[in-house]
This record gives sequence, structure tokens and C-alpha cells, in this order.
Amino acid sequence: MKEYIPKTLLLLLFLDLLVWETMRPCKEFRYQKKRARIWHGTTNISVGLIGTVISYVLFLPIWQIAAQWSGRHGWGLLHLMPKNLAGIVFLAVVLLDIWTYWWHRMNHRIRFLWRFHRMHHSDPWMDTTSAQRFHPGEIIFSSMLRIPVIILFSLELWHVALYDSIMLAVVMFHHSNIAVPDRADRLLRLIIPTPIMHKIHHSRERSETDSNYTSLFSIWDRIFVSLRMRPDWKSVSFGLHGYDSPDNQSWAGLIKTPFRNAAKRSSSQFDKNKKPQDNKGLENIGTDVK
Ligand SMILES: [Zn+2]
Repeated sequence: MKEYIPKTLLLLLFLDLLVWETMRPCKEFRYQKKRARIWHGTTNISVGLIGTVISYVLFLPIWQIAAQWSGRHGWGLLHLMPKNLAGIVFLAVVLLDIWTYWWHRMNHRIRFLWRFHRMHHSDPWMDTTSAQRFHPGEIIFSSMLRIPVIILFSLELWHVALYDSIMLAVVMFHHSNIAVPDRADRLLRLIIPTPIMHKIHHSRERSETDSNYTSLFSIWDRIFVSLRMRPDWKSVSFGLHGYDSPDNQSWAGLIKTPFRNAAKRSSSQFDKNKKPQDNKGLENIGTDVK
């Protein structure tokens, strides 16, 4: 029964954010039809679910074996630490978050990984459902890499589950289209990445996309010099040039994203002087989904 508590809390948070961003959106939803927003949300969630199911069915038992093996052999960093439960748990969460930061950064820097990660960035609109929009391939790669991470840090499976639950809650929060007062956002972003901070990460401008990588603790963007803010954050244009068409935004189109129309990662792709095409894409979503 206890294992269902985090999942129930996450579901409640998701529903709460959904209602909040509907009642008091930060940026007005620009879909012309209500069903277009529902289509956008269900597409994001259903694509994300595939990866989550694969990861849990396929990788959870492997993570378990890796954690048990590391525990039996006394391997890994946390075995060297004093046996203080609170300290160990805190360190486990911090280590996992540093890894998540660099994994995210690698997804932007390594061309092959970007092919998969760009599906997350091709979302022409950002709301709490965007937090689920990750390509199954990206989830599989990150799940595979968790195996050595678990061994190197000597993590127990419940450390990973705890981190994932807290991190997912924060990720849903900073993707949501809720109106958080500027002052509150500024204070909050001293600890966690906030909706305003993460909006910059979803910009079409490459210099902005390649910034604000943090998932749970915002400090890593400061330490590793990748924090970027702009005063006119409300004018950030979401999405990725070349992926706005209804075909690319369809369920099948999202799955095919890594394998077609490779978006050029040159600076010209995000050239500030080029006319943004995001409005066109949003109009398409609003009009073409029947
Ligand atoms: Zn990213």
C-alpha cells in the first residue's frame, strides 16, 4: 500500500497543476479549440508513458540487481560515508541530481542524443503535460546509464525511487503554464528551477535552449555556469524550427522525430534575425485537429 503513496501524490499534483494552469494561465493558451489542447496533452502523456513502462518493466529488475550487487560487494561512494541515514539519503539525491544535470546537458551537446531529446523541445506549447514528453529512446538510454550510476554511487533502489518522485514533481511544476508572481519565482529559483526559468530552456533561440538544464536543484546551473534569464521571458517562443507541422506533431511524427528532418544544430537554426515560425505551428494545431 505504501508504495502507492508517491504515485497518488504525483497524480494529485498533476491534476492540481492542470486545473491551476487552466484557471490562471501564465500565458494564454493559444489553441483555437479546446479539443486541440486535449489532443496536445494526451499525445504528450501517451508518448511519455511508453518510455516509462519500458523503463519500469525492463530496467527496474536490472537496477535492483545492480543495487544488490553493489551492496553485497561494498562497492561505491556511499559505502565510504559515515552511516548516517539522513546524510546518506541527502547525498544520494544530490548525486543523482548532478548526474541528471550532466545527462541533460549531454543530450544537448551530443548530436545522436539530441535526435531523441529534440522531441521534448519540439513542443510548440509548454504546459504540465510537456513534462511527460520524452522519447522512449531517451528514456531507454538514461535507464541503461543508471546501471553504472547505481553501482558507482552504491545507491539503493528506494534512493532512486525517492529521487524520481521528488524530481518528477518539480519537473511537472516548472513545465506548467501557471502564473507564479515574479517575486515568488525569483525566491523559489534559488532552490529549484521554476516555470519562468524553464521557459527559457524551451526557447527557439539556441543560446537559450542550451541553458537552464537543472531538474531538481537549480544550483547546478549556477555552479556549472549555464543559468540564463531574460527580463522579457513572456515573449519566449517555444518549439523547434522545422518541427511545427501537424505531421511532426502527430503521435507517429513524435516517435519518428529522431529519424527524420534532422534539425540543423547550427546557430542559423536559431538565428535571432530569422522570423519565428511558431505562431504558424500553433495555428496549425488549433485548426487542423478535428
Ligand atoms: Zn533540454
